[in-house]
Amino acid sequence: MYPWLTPVWQRLLRGVRAQHLGHGLLIKGMAGLGKRELAGQLANALLCQHTSNAPCGMCHACELTAAGSHSDLHIVGREGRSIGIDAIRELSRIMSESARLGHGKVAIIERAELMTEAAANALLKTLEEPAGEATLILVSSQPERLLPTLISRCQQWLVPLPDPRTVLTWLKEQGAQASAAALSVNQGSPLQTLDYLNAGADDKRLQLLSELSDLAGHPALFARVQATLQEQPVHLVWVQLLLQDALQTALGVQAPLKLDDCRADSVRLARLSPVCLNRLNSELLELRRSLQPGQGRPMNTGLQLGQWLHSLQQALLHS
Ligand SMILES: [Zn+2]
Repeated sequence: MYPWLTPVWQRLLRGVRAQHLGHGLLIKGMAGLGKRELAGQLANALLCQHTSNAPCGMCHACELTAAGSHSDLHIVGREGRSIGIDAIRELSRIMSESARLGHGKVAIIERAELMTEAAANALLKTLEEPAGEATLILVSSQPERLLPTLISRCQQWLVPLPDPRTVLTWLKEQGAQASAAALSVNQGSPLQTLDYLNAGADDKRLQLLSELSDLAGHPALFARVQATLQEQPVHLVWVQLLLQDALQTALGVQAPLKLDDCRADSVRLARLSPVCLNRLNSELLELRRSLQPGQGRPMNTGLQLGQWLHSLQQALLHS
């Protein structure tokens, strides 16, 4: 288990052993904290045949759970872009059957925010009429997207964001050299930072921000910077963090930079006035919003990004 999950896991475990947990649970917290693993462990503990020291890791139920073949454990939401009513109806049907191994039944809904409205309403009925020893565990990194009536019927368990020192130590143990900046661009999430580092994205970020801040000196880089910006929406987040650092530098605010490994880049951008940096930042925020799913297809992202980058280059040339 991930080290930052230990406190919440210990509390959950006390709940299991004292049989104090509700029929409906919601495990929430930002993405990349291991909530899914926590839900799996909890299911394991609930199904274990040795209630007093669950999960024992030795009984038949624990063996089946470890092998992913426990017939009293049902998981939905692992794949696909939404969770429909059919999946929830099937879940309700399975949950109403009696437990094969006699230790209750557990259902996990991963990425619960992906439930359609019809699915969520169907689930509400199941939660209103809990069947025997069935436990339903919802997992969500966007609980604000869940029906309030659904949330109110669940015992809520928040997985807090670990402190940066814990995350950096853990990343080091995984063989990943992470900087505070790498953590910043991943909002402090340990698993996201690990994926980011393994994908080589940190080098990409350093290169992109260095080239972007040097557009006045090397105008020929324009096309490459534009192409990189268009690759992934998260690249715009990197630029925004740099703009915020540049603004802080331009204003002479003495505070740690978000991207302390791009100090030279933020100093270059800090030649621009605070008004100009603010404008560039809010324009970029608008662009990011238009790229979010559900906002309709933007007219022409490439064109808009190109215009934004051109205005940054012009501002740098005239600063
Ligand atoms: Zn066991």
